Amino acid sequence: MLNKYSERYSRQELVLGKANQKKLQKAIVAIVGVGALGTVAAELLTRAGVGKLILIDRDTIEESNLQRQLLFTEKDVGKSKAKVAEEKLKEINSTIKIKPHAIHLNSENISLLKEADLVLDCTDSLKTRFLLNDFCKKENIPWIYASAIRTEGYVMPVFPNGPCLRCFLKEANLETCDTVGVLNTITTSIAALQTTLVIKILIGKKVEPFLYHCDIWKQKFQTLKIKQKTNCPTCHGDYRFLNQKEELVTKFCSAGKYQITGKKVNLTEIQKRWNKLGKVVNDGIALRFGKIILFGDGRALIEAKTEEEARSVYGKWVGN
Ligand SMILES: [Zn+2]
Repeated sequence: MLNKYSERYSRQELVLGKANQKKLQKAIVAIVGVGALGTVAAELLTRAGVGKLILIDRDTIEESNLQRQLLFTEKDVGKSKAKVAEEKLKEINSTIKIKPHAIHLNSENISLLKEADLVLDCTDSLKTRFLLNDFCKKENIPWIYASAIRTEGYVMPVFPNGPCLRCFLKEANLETCDTVGVLNTITTSIAALQTTLVIKILIGKKVEPFLYHCDIWKQKFQTLKIKQKTNCPTCHGDYRFLNQKEELVTKFCSAGKYQITGKKVNLTEIQKRWNKLGKVVNDGIALRFGKIILFGDGRALIEAKTEEEARSVYGKWVGN
C-alpha cells in the first residue's frame, strides 16, 4: 500500500540521522499502563518506528478515559485497553511489532519485560512503580518513571547505576486514587517528554538521571538533581517488591470496580456455559458478560458495590 516506505521517517531522520533511525527500528520498548500517558507514548513510539512495543494494561476503557487517552474512541468503551491500543497502533504503522498483554503486572509475570531495552512507567500505581524499580535495577534495564495529576507532572529516567525511585520516594501510601482530576495537556506533555528521553536513550545520547517537573498551567519547568541515597534498599540489592505475592482482591480507583485474581480458566468452555444465559462478548482476549469481564488467566474485573458482592459474583459465574 505504501510504496514510499523510505519516506515514512524522512523528517525524523533529518533530526536524528539515518543510522540512529535504524537503532530505533531494532529497539524493544515495554509500556506499562496504556492510559493517559501510555496511549500517547505508544502512539509516538509507533510513529517514530520503534521496532517492537510490549503493551501491558489490566483494565478496560471507560467513558471517563476518553478526555485524555488519545487512542480510544466512544466505540471502544468496555474493551481491553491493551488490545484496542494494539489494533489502533497497527493501523498507524504496520511495520512494527506490537505485543499486548491484558494482565495485572505483578512479581509472578514481570519476567516478560526481560526482553525490553527500556521500560516505561505509565501506570498510576506506586506499588507497580516500586515493582518496576526493583525489577529493572536487578535486570540492568533502564526505565522511565512518569506521573501526572491536575496540571503537574514528573518524569525521571532511572539507570542501572544511577539514583532510583526509592532514593527519593517512600513506601508509604502505596495506593492513591486519581479522583483529584487531571488536564489532558499535562498528560500529553509528560508523555511527550518521556518519549523524547526514550528516543535519546535508544540512540545512545547522554541523558542525565534528573527528576523533571512541569506545571503546564503555570508554564513552569524545573530540573531537580536526585542523589543516590546511601541506605536505599533497591540500590543495595534488596529487591523486596519482587517477592510480594499478588493480592486476591483489588479495588480499582474507578468507582465500583474490583479485580479478582483466580485460577487459570478455559474461556471457550465458560463461553459455552454463559451463552445459554445471555449475551457474551469475546474480543479474543477476554469474555464480557453482564457485570463481569473474565481473562484467560482467571483474572476478572467485576462491577460491584462491595468486595463481598464482587467475590459472590466471581463465585457464581466463574467458580473456584
Ligand atoms: Zn535507590
